[in-house]
Amino acid sequence: MIPYGRQDVIQSDIDAITAVLRSDFLTQGPQVPRFEAAVSTYCGARYALAVNSATSALHIACLALELGAGDWLWTSPITFVASANCARYCGAQVDFVDIDPLTYNIDVNALRAKLEAAAVAGRLPKVVVPVHMAGQSCDMQAIHELSRRYGFRIIEDASHAIGGRYLDQPVGSCRYSDITVFSFHPVKIITTAEGGMATTNDAALADRMALLRSHGITRDAAKMTKASEGDWYYQQIDLGLNYRMTELQAALGVSQMQRLDDYVMRRHTLALRYDQLLADLPVKTPGQANYSYSALHLYIIRVAETASTNRAKVFHALRSKGIGVNVHYIPVHMQPYYEALGPKVGYDALSFPHANAYYDQAISIPLYATLSFEQQDEVLAALRTILV
Ligand SMILES: *Cc1c(COP(=O)(O)O)cnc(C)c1O
Repeated sequence: MIPYGRQDVIQSDIDAITAVLRSDFLTQGPQVPRFEAAVSTYCGARYALAVNSATSALHIACLALELGAGDWLWTSPITFVASANCARYCGAQVDFVDIDPLTYNIDVNALRAKLEAAAVAGRLPKVVVPVHMAGQSCDMQAIHELSRRYGFRIIEDASHAIGGRYLDQPVGSCRYSDITVFSFHPVKIITTAEGGMATTNDAALADRMALLRSHGITRDAAKMTKASEGDWYYQQIDLGLNYRMTELQAALGVSQMQRLDDYVMRRHTLALRYDQLLADLPVKTPGQANYSYSALHLYIIRVAETASTNRAKVFHALRSKGIGVNVHYIPVHMQPYYEALGPKVGYDALSFPHANAYYDQAISIPLYATLSFEQQDEVLAALRTILV
């Protein structure tokens, strides 16, 4: 089976992990700060906080922005459920904004219209989570302008997008957002097995996220409410969690960061090849906006329903030929958990027509840095047999 995505782990990665195993620290040592420095430098963001997953990063990002009961978080329906769940962890409500049919990212015009209506109804969101679908940045400048006008905060879900660029700035620079979140799950651009990172330029947000990822405990005398009682002393000054990344993961992350640009370049080479070799087949290839250089986490084709075929048929035919295709994503508002919340919030199964139309047609075909041209040709040959 050729998977739709997979990690690349080489000897130098293994050596980096082995060295940590033989060292004094398996957690809370020097590797996590090294990895954070590598990512913050790469992205041009002042602070980077490593955690054990992007889901955890989204959670502490929402907590740091003081999202809570009675507040609203808006995101795209075409994302992994974690982009929405972070609001529910904080007791906040979730609503969705339909996608742009070219980029599959949150539609800025739909967002503007929904904000206008929400302002009238007194139900503006506190946080908006734009998701950089498949690695392509959302139009952050436009979303940032809306955030100024309507007073919401922005968390970029860049789980797909490390190594990508927006208006020639690295994704994660937080130039147009409060916080950006990355995932290092094995199918993503670089991996730490499980792992995530939050970047920000705001010292107070960075401080809060650092506290929240480790129980709300501080050893910094300046942050304590009363004098230290000795060298053993620490204070819990807030309710935090244990979302720490291990030293093993961070060492792998440092090692993988060295190949990030090569990975993204290779993904572009493969994607361009797909674009060209799929041009005569009845599928829609991914649209790219001119403001973005995608990290190309996913290569998504769309298969329209005809008298003789549809997405499900093509999907199953590809799987039976050993092509490990997948679908990203089942719209979040159609998940039973969110479906049940819909009537209270005001959305239903038909509220986001572009997301639904996309879902009916989307297939993610294999794309990852170590995919060979021969394997890619196998994918193309299978598609050709099925579609022509
Ligand atoms: C993978 C992913 C997440 C969650 O990442 P984890 O590191 O697995 O928690 C969140 N949002 C999106 C868009 C993702 O693709």
